[in-house]
Amino acid sequence: MQHVYDVTIIGGGPAGLYSAFYSGLRGLKTKLLESQPQLGGKVLLYPEKLIWDIGGHPPVLGEQFVKQLIEQAKTFDPTILTGTKVDLIERHNDIFVIHTAAGEKHYSKTVLLAVGGGIISPQKLTLEGAEKYEMSNLHYTVQSYKRFVDKDIIISGGGNAAIDWAVELSPIAKSVTIVYRKENLSAHEATVQEALDAGVRIECNTTITKLSANIDKTAIQLVTCENTITKQSYTRQIDEVIVSHGYSREASLAFDEAIAIPKKDDYYVEGKATGETAQPGIFAAGDILSFDGKINLLLGTFQDAANAVNSIKTYLEPTAYRHGMVSSHNELFKEKNRSIIEKQFAPAH
Ligand SMILES: Cc1cc2nc3c(=O)[nH]c(=O)nc-3n(C[C@H](O)[C@H](O)[C@H](O)COP(=O)(O)OP(=O)(O)OC[C@H]3O[C@@H](n4cnc5c(N)ncnc54)[C@H](O)[C@@H]3O)c2cc1C
Repeated sequence: MQHVYDVTIIGGGPAGLYSAFYSGLRGLKTKLLESQPQLGGKVLLYPEKLIWDIGGHPPVLGEQFVKQLIEQAKTFDPTILTGTKVDLIERHNDIFVIHTAAGEKHYSKTVLLAVGGGIISPQKLTLEGAEKYEMSNLHYTVQSYKRFVDKDIIISGGGNAAIDWAVELSPIAKSVTIVYRKENLSAHEATVQEALDAGVRIECNTTITKLSANIDKTAIQLVTCENTITKQSYTRQIDEVIVSHGYSREASLAFDEAIAIPKKDDYYVEGKATGETAQPGIFAAGDILSFDGKINLLLGTFQDAANAVNSIKTYLEPTAYRHGMVSSHNELFKEKNRSIIEKQFAPAH
């Protein structure tokens, strides 16, 4: 049998990543399983957005914030596995057996659910062969503004995210065109006006019907659009295609029949601010956890994570302190502090 961990965290978003750090701080043998190939959770949906509402943190890009979260999560060397979707949790006496979609099993004394609101994926363009351009110029999120500089861009979608991207990209792009299948955009009026003021071309009742490749078949060069009412088509040369058709959500995991956890609905579990659920040994943190006074923001995920890990610590070791030692006076950081200070004050040569 594989090693039995003290805690297995399911989900590598902000709640899971901070839990991995805090769990190390509390001396727990920790494993984290994330279904996506990348860590970061929902923040990966807004890598180019500045986040302002994290206490004491200057405005930070989503992408940079994810990097920092990952670095912090690795402080105490937890085992982290990406591309590992958990689909079932079973209890065998005092041990949880965590089954993955690939048929692997992981063993743990406790489980910390940090699965957000389920697995969120962008609604993809349903045109044949579209997926092969995802490595080149078909985008479902804007990862970096840099690649859009001086480009002709077409954005498919009429919601706030689509129009927001159009507004942000228009000052740096050569041209931005929005196509939307319905008569009226669903984005806020003020954002639509901003897009119009920024020179974004908006074509309603229009849908993308064909993507045609460049000569070496690596990227989209031409996009064919059709007017949904007149059925007339036109083809346009384009550098980048962005699709913003919303997200689908998949309820994340199942529990063995013997593990009953009250759920708020298909996506969220009811629990306490301490991270405890109705099932001993199963804890929760972040967006997945619902309780009175819950804050569904990044700052809320951190408080949830620390609470859940402290609950796990006292569940495993009832005589342990309820709270972890503050980091500023914690011996665990002594060596790391020394090396940071040495680097900071090293004489310049
Ligand atoms: C567009 C947008 C903008 C936002 N802006 C802000 C902001 O400015 N400030 C702020 O404070 N908050 C913001 N938020 C909210 C913030 O992103 C969330 O509160 C936060 O990401 C929740 O973190 P989490 O770890 O609980 O869940 P998530 O970030 O959803 O992470 C959950 C992780 O679990 C993984 N997972 C799910 N199921 C499984 C499974 N079965 N097996 C393995 N892994 C699984 C998922 O793939 C995901 O990586 C924003 C949210 C959105 C959508």
